[in-house]
Amino acid sequence: MFLVSIEKTIRTLRKQLESFGISEELRGYCWDRAPVEPLNDVRIAVSDLNGFCPTRRDLFLKYVLKEKGEPNQYMLKGLAIHKVIRETIVTLKKAIYSGCDSGEEIVKEYFNDSEILDRICKSLECDEIRNDISKLYRYIVLQVAAKVDEIKSKYADVDAENVAGLVFPPVVERRIDGEPVGLSKNLSLDVFTPYSVIMDFKSGSERYGHMLSLTGYALALEADDEIDVNFGVLIYVRIDKSVHFCQKGFLISDELRREFLEVRDEIAEMIESGNDPGKPSECPKYCCYYGVCNESSC
Ligand code: SF4
Repeated sequence: MFLVSIEKTIRTLRKQLESFGISEELRGYCWDRAPVEPLNDVRIAVSDLNGFCPTRRDLFLKYVLKEKGEPNQYMLKGLAIHKVIRETIVTLKKAIYSGCDSGEEIVKEYFNDSEILDRICKSLECDEIRNDISKLYRYIVLQVAAKVDEIKSKYADVDAENVAGLVFPPVVERRIDGEPVGLSKNLSLDVFTPYSVIMDFKSGSERYGHMLSLTGYALALEADDEIDVNFGVLIYVRIDKSVHFCQKGFLISDELRREFLEVRDEIAEMIESGNDPGKPSECPKYCCYYGVCNESSC
C-alpha cells in the first residue's frame, strides 16, 4: 500500500471481525430504520464529531448562530498536509501516464519542483510551515520513485496503467453523500480501497474522536454504495527532521457505530432545539471560536 504498509494490520483486524462480527442493523445501508435513520433534518460535517469544545458550543455557533470560526494553525497545517498528499499524488499519477516511467526521471523532474508548494502556501497563506510541507512533498516523491522502480524490476512487461495502479491507492479523496446517515451531502474521504478499508490522514495528536469520524465515513459509504466497510486506518503524519506515517488500524465495531450514532443524535437534537449549551470552565486558546466566545457579546 502507498506510504504505509497496512497488510499486517488488516490481517489482525480480519481475525477480530471473525470473532466479533458487525451487526447488520448498524450498517449504513440500514439508513431507513432505527438506529441508523437520522432523528431529524439536521446534517453535520464529519469533523464536527471531533471538535475541541467540551460543551459543543462550537456547533451551536456554527449551525444556529451561523458564526464563522478563525482557522487556527493546527487546522491550517492539517489542511496543507491533506493538500500536499492529494496534489502530489495527482501530479505524479499524471506524470506516469505521460511517460515518466522510472524513479530517476520522477526524482529529476519533481524533487526540486516548487509548483505544488507555491500554490498551497499562497492559497492557505501558510508560509511559516513551508519547510514542513516541503519535507512531506519530497518524501512522497521519493517513495513514489522507489515504488515505480520496484514494480518495474518485479514485472517485466508493465505499462503506465499497470504501474499507476500498483503504486497509488485506488481512490484518493472519494466523494460521498452522507445525507442518509445524518451527515453532509458532500463528504470527502482521504483513501478508500476496495478491500473494505478506509483511511484518513491526520496531522495532530491521536484522539478518540478521530475514530468516531472515520466510523461516520464508513456508515456514509455503506449507505452510498450498499457495501460493507469493516476496517478503518488513521494515518498520523508527523514531520520533524524527517517524515513519519504512524498508523492506527481498528475494526469499525458495533461499539464504535453505536457511539457514533449517539453523538450524531445528541448534536442533531442540540442544533434543532437552538439552545445554547454554554461555555466550559476553560476554553482552549486555539479554539477557532475563542474570539467569538471570549471577546464578544456572544
Ligand atoms: S471558545 Fe470555548 S465555548 Fe467557545 S467554542 Fe471554543 S471551547 Fe467552546
